[in-house]
This record gives sequence, structure tokens and C-alpha cells, in this order.
Amino acid sequence: MEKQTGQCLCGEIRYSFTDEPIAAAHCHCLDCQKATGCGFATVFGLAGQDVELFGQESLGEFTLKARSGLSVTRLFCQNCGSPMFTKAENNPDFIWIKAGSLDQSDWLKPTDSCWTGSAVIWAQADPTTTHHRGNPE
Ligand SMILES: [Zn+2]
Ligand SMILES: [Zn+2]
Repeated sequence: MEKQTGQCLCGEIRYSFTDEPIAAAHCHCLDCQKATGCGFATVFGLAGQDVELFGQESLGEFTLKARSGLSVTRLFCQNCGSPMFTKAENNPDFIWIKAGSLDQSDWLKPTDSCWTGSAVIWAQADPTTTHHRGNPE
């Protein structure tokens, strides 16, 4: 597909890719609610090698064991605090990117909603997506 770009709020972290994302989903887990300050996180996934990253030295990271039992590392801009990427220990070569960081995202079509059991009343799971009680298989 056409080259896509994204960045954090301050612009220190930037990325680009040309491959179609392998997945796109809304995550309603409690960790994503805390980490984003929002009702859910919308993310898309790519093989890490397919993402060109700029300003990597400004990335901070925080690792926590998620309720799924997996260690999840969340990467954010140390300058402006924007949440940017997530990596899970079971698939370290895969990178989840926060959809709101895209410069242009009209093309993105999330297909799944994860951890819908913890969806808050004011940000319910998107009925046009497939709902999962946990992570999709
Ligand atoms: Zn930033
Ligand atoms: Zn989550």
C-alpha cells in the first residue's frame, strides 16, 4: 500500500511503513485504559522489521505482566508522554502501534474488539467488530 507515516505529539518519535497491517483492533483491557487514559486503545500490528523508526533514543519503556499472563512492554515518547507502541513477550518481532499516532488513518478498519468484558459504559465495544473476552486466538 501507499507509504504511511505517524508520530507522537511532539514529533520526536516518527515512523513509516508500506505493508498492510496484519491486524487492527480495539483493546478494552484495564491496562490499555490506564496507559492511554481513554476507554480503550485502538492499535494495529505489523512485523517490527517492516516499520522504519526515527527518534528511537527518545523512546521510554515500561514492562508489566498483563492479566493474560504475558509480559507486555509499552513504549512511549519520553518528551511528550504519548503512548506509541506495544510488544508482547510471546511475539517480540511483532509491534502494535497506537492508531491515533497515524498522520492519516481513514484507511484503517479495526476488525476485532478485545477484552470486551472490561469495556466501560461510556466507551462500549464497537458492534461492527468481532468481540473477544480476552485476546483473539
Ligand atoms: Zn513526543
Ligand atoms: Zn489492552
